[in-house]
Amino acid sequence: MSQTAAQISSPTPGKVWLVGAGPGAADLITVRGQNILSSAEVVLYDDLANADLLNLCPVTCERIYVGKRAGCHSASQREICSELVNKARTGRNVVRLKGGDPMTFGRAGEELQALADAGIACEIVPGVTAAASVAAVAELPLTQRGIASAVVFATGHACADRGATPVNWRAMGALGATLCIYMGTRHFGVIASELIAGGLNPDTPVAVVADATLPTQSVRLGQLSDGDTLTADPARRPALIIVGDVVRWREISAAAPAMAAAE
Ligand code: SAH
Repeated sequence: MSQTAAQISSPTPGKVWLVGAGPGAADLITVRGQNILSSAEVVLYDDLANADLLNLCPVTCERIYVGKRAGCHSASQREICSELVNKARTGRNVVRLKGGDPMTFGRAGEELQALADAGIACEIVPGVTAAASVAAVAELPLTQRGIASAVVFATGHACADRGATPVNWRAMGALGATLCIYMGTRHFGVIASELIAGGLNPDTPVAVVADATLPTQSVRLGQLSDGDTLTADPARRPALIIVGDVVRWREISAAAPAMAAAE
């Protein structure tokens, strides 16, 4: 069968990897993520991924910023999806580098769909999500025998995003689970009131960890009734909010040593 000019000039599409960059510190990427970056031909990255990771890419790799840094055009999700498809269609191996884990509040679903629709192969490389890193740096076990047996990852951004599925904060307040709230700092006043209305004590402990694993990291402790005074940050660093008794697990465990002994 004879080929058209367009068919001759379009190579076999490359492959796309959605790679989790981890929470901030460059060495918290996985070995697999590191290997894939080291052979990337195109990389699309945004603000949450540590920029030092780009040094792992070959010098010839095309680097495309798709974040929201002040003064730069911020690419829409639709633009990012079509850029991924277009770059893969040039026959190159493309890495979409995302902060934390790509499948956790990472808009991976839209990108996977766009790639599937275009018939482009894609592989996901997991990353350390913010909740796991915050738990590590603040030494807060997300689950602890006798204190919390369940964990919820929720987004506080849904308060402002009309396209998002709303979170039923009152129902969350009744779960008895540790709540890890991503993107919640600006709406924490409303979220805290709803959690209290749902049954949580106003003195339920809260930890707010900003820039976890980076030199600028900070940990603030308070309680639900502090509301958004606890989350105010002029620097607007990414921060994760943990709500639940695990925040003061050391005190609780010290007061109930019999529990630990009964293991
Ligand atoms: N895919 C990412 C989450 C992206 S949503 C992941 O798996 O971690 C962005 C939100 O993640 C931020 O608003 C903040 O709530 C949280 N976050 C990301 N990096 C963080 C960090 N280093 N410290 C604290 N919170 C972080």
